[in-house]
Amino acid sequence: MPDKKVSPKAKAIDKTIQIVIAGGGGFIGGSLARYFHDKGFTRIRAIDKKPLSDWYQRVPGVECLCLDLSQEKNCRRAVEGAGEIYQLAADMGGMGFIERFRIECLRSVLINTHMIESAYKAGCDRYFYSSSACVYNTDLQKDPNVRALKETDAYPAMSERGYGWEKLISEMLCQEYWAERGMKTFIARFHNVYGPWGTWDGGREKAPAALCRKVITAKDLGHKELPIWGDGTQTRSFMYIDDCVKGIDRITHFDGLIATPINLGTSELISVADLVSLVEDIAGVKFKRKYDPTAPKGVAGRNSDNTMIKRILGWEPSTPLRVGMRKTYAWIEQQYFARKAGHRTID
Ligand code: NAD
Repeated sequence: MPDKKVSPKAKAIDKTIQIVIAGGGGFIGGSLARYFHDKGFTRIRAIDKKPLSDWYQRVPGVECLCLDLSQEKNCRRAVEGAGEIYQLAADMGGMGFIERFRIECLRSVLINTHMIESAYKAGCDRYFYSSSACVYNTDLQKDPNVRALKETDAYPAMSERGYGWEKLISEMLCQEYWAERGMKTFIARFHNVYGPWGTWDGGREKAPAALCRKVITAKDLGHKELPIWGDGTQTRSFMYIDDCVKGIDRITHFDGLIATPINLGTSELISVADLVSLVEDIAGVKFKRKYDPTAPKGVAGRNSDNTMIKRILGWEPSTPLRVGMRKTYAWIEQQYFARKAGHRTID
């Protein structure tokens, strides 16, 4: 979007820069902390409002702060000395959560308002914002044989109620902090992220984790029938967590993408019914299916058009769904049996 001078090449990155990850106790934030740690970054600070004992991952050497980032004073503390900020904190979950708790979703605007202003005041060099495919116009997503969504499809706006509108307005904040104040902001629209260390139970989990858990539970308890939300025809694409954190890094360190929302997802479209079959294959079982058309199911179809990311970064998320789902299934199975044995797990 705006026309400040940008360099066409990604910069070499100083590994002693202070990295701040908001939402670092959650799924993607925790994996991002591990990713930067493993890349040799030495000053990483993760912040989350959850008590430390509930964080999904605690990475050795990463400073962990427990703060509610909907309050401005906590945001100022969180970003002290920050060179790069990754804003992943949000009150969110799968369809079961975002269709039911729209007010909570909308209230994440407090986090985004205070975080970006604090980042600006702290003189942060790069600010990443985790947006979502839920910003896209829902009128374009009424058919399971959906046309993949390209970045321009967010406007004219008719986002997902609650969660999607909050994401869209927070994207605009990022764009204006660049246009008016010259702070480098980066915006990725994630399409369903899944993988180990993600929410797998409790009401906020998304379809891949929920289906793994249902299959593992049914197999363990000898059930014959599998309850499935919707009628199975809804289509989606799902991005493996390793691709997500890699993509965040690439986007944030490419000046050609300043203040420019970009899809971060795969374009491997699958229906919920086929996703169930994939999980059954991995588990080596087959169940009778009990579809529930009254359960939350979101839009009929959604896929990511990756033309822009391929053109600009020469890269796109590419972990095949079967490969990522195998790893996810194995991890959830291990969590399930650990919990059954009375151990603490991360659901
Ligand atoms: P998550 O729920 O695992 O992580 C979000 C974290 O933010 C949680 O740990 C939560 O405790 C924390 N948080 C919430 N309110 C906070 C507050 N007031 N102060 C501090 N921390 C707070 O979710 P995730 O899957 O890791 O998602 C990370 C980001 O990516 C979110 O912004 C989400 O909207 C976005 N996103 C995720 C997906 C996906 O498929 N997972 C898809 C699109 C967009």
